Amino acid sequence: RGGTAEREVPFAQPGSLTRVYAVASGKGGVGKSSVTVNLAAAMAADGLKVGVVDADIYGHSVPRMLGAEGRPTQVENMIMPPSANGVKVISIGMFTPGNAPVVWRGPMLHRALQQFLADVYWGDLDVLLLDLPPGTGDIAISVAQLVPNAEILVVTTPQQAAAEVAERAGSIAVQTHQKIVGVVENMAGLELPTGEIVDVFGTGGGQQVAEGLTKTTGTQVPVLGSIPIDVRLREGGDAGNPVVLTDPESGAGAAIRAIAGKL
Ligand code: ADP
Repeated sequence: RGGTAEREVPFAQPGSLTRVYAVASGKGGVGKSSVTVNLAAAMAADGLKVGVVDADIYGHSVPRMLGAEGRPTQVENMIMPPSANGVKVISIGMFTPGNAPVVWRGPMLHRALQQFLADVYWGDLDVLLLDLPPGTGDIAISVAQLVPNAEILVVTTPQQAAAEVAERAGSIAVQTHQKIVGVVENMAGLELPTGEIVDVFGTGGGQQVAEGLTKTTGTQVPVLGSIPIDVRLREGGDAGNPVVLTDPESGAGAAIRAIAGKL
């Protein structure tokens, strides 16, 4: 909206009733987007009004995982977000032609996030989830500037090496004075048809990150839950049918619904 003043971010205003969670991870591929989408769908199924901003600029995958095939439309000078499974969603992928890679620099990312937060017509949301890119990049700092009240949810795998990187991503909250709401451990033990559990990625990563962040922040950071490796979660993501809705009692479905209940 060239020339005009930037709109204020409604979620950052005093008295805003929307809880904002920024979902962060150290590395890519740990299931951050899968967790975000399933938490959103679980909360919407519980009757909450939920929105998701796909701010994972380089790996945007939220609309597909959520089954959102609609495009944003413009009404007056606001952007109307499409919705799927009861969740409103906006993604950088909706504004890039085809499957074009995004090669933006920090200031453009900041501007895009600003617009997603202020120029999208979200209505009265109970919860807004932001799917951040992995790592401690520009977007995390932009989130802190644009929505200082956003709480950070850290996703890691049980693997020690991954946990160290996740801890670094979480510790940015100390510099930005944001609250870390908790740690989600994803890709925990895979249950075989025999009932035996295989710890494909080891154990303890979630606990390690929570303890490390408790130390660096000086406040208690809990492990909110551990989500098993589950084929149904992956299939649901590919098909745009979140496992929390299609298979709510499955290992991953039940674990994510329990985490949603704590947020
Ligand atoms: P990130 O957002 O961290 O890059 P994704 O959510 O895109 O990670 O997940 C990476 C891949 O792993 C996807 O194909 C997803 O379906 C799969 N995946 C994530 N979590 C699980 C899980 N608990 N069980 C099985 N597959 C999973």
